Amino acid sequence: MKKFTFVFLSLILLGVSSIFAYSFQIYTVKRGDTLSGIAQKLSVSANSILDLNPTINPNKLWIGQRLKIVEPDGIFQSVDKGQALWYIAAEYFTTIKNILKYNHLKNPNIIFPGEKLFIPTSIICKTSKRKTGVIWPVFGYITSPYGWRINPLTHKKEFHPGIDIGAPEGTPIFAAISGVVTYAGWDDGYGKMVQIFNGHLLTRYGHMSRIDCYTGEHVRQGELIGRIGSTGLSTGPHLHFEIRINGIPYNPLGYLPYVSWSGELPHPPTPYEEGMGY
Ligand SMILES: [Zn+2]
Repeated sequence: MKKFTFVFLSLILLGVSSIFAYSFQIYTVKRGDTLSGIAQKLSVSANSILDLNPTINPNKLWIGQRLKIVEPDGIFQSVDKGQALWYIAAEYFTTIKNILKYNHLKNPNIIFPGEKLFIPTSIICKTSKRKTGVIWPVFGYITSPYGWRINPLTHKKEFHPGIDIGAPEGTPIFAAISGVVTYAGWDDGYGKMVQIFNGHLLTRYGHMSRIDCYTGEHVRQGELIGRIGSTGLSTGPHLHFEIRINGIPYNPLGYLPYVSWSGELPHPPTPYEEGMGY
């Protein structure tokens, strides 16, 4: 009887472990710990830790603080109402197949609003065109181009030093280039803003709802750096994206790869679509 119970329990455990392709652990912050040190020790990304633990301050960890860690390294994406799996795959520049695999899903048409999908770092930005140079930081529509425009808030003529890419709140934003995070914090106009510098190009990301990197961090191209929001001077959720050389803003479209229809990206960023956030 006991043997039977043991076999039975083992079968249940085997079943449970094959349902999830990931596992959680809680890490308790010790004296002398830094976010990058913890990330290195646990072989996960500091940015994933920041995304999984939205209330922590990367520069002010305290002893005894409990951090949620997921293995393998990755993050979660909630399914919005009416959102299809291809759209989530596109947001992460990955394939539907990859998401199905890591969530043990069989049917791409059966996902539910509020469901949390596991997105391992290893599958992110795999369909991004051009591995060198600059990649698209977010999947969405260009709602305002670079150049002279009438400011939607002040109705005055002004120079728009970047492009606006409209996307739903919470859409992941990735580093368009590898480099050092020279600023990650608040700016009155840009809201929650990140700057990444590679020694030549400075890329700037504005209006985020949350920042998943920290000043001084070295980030790789395609690494999660935050999520879409509407902070600062903004009329709706979007990313304001800039490329500067020696302080002078250049048209990001001159650097970003041209995106055409492909099997992996069913709905690429389009040149202009009105009615979304500025
Ligand atoms: Zn803008």
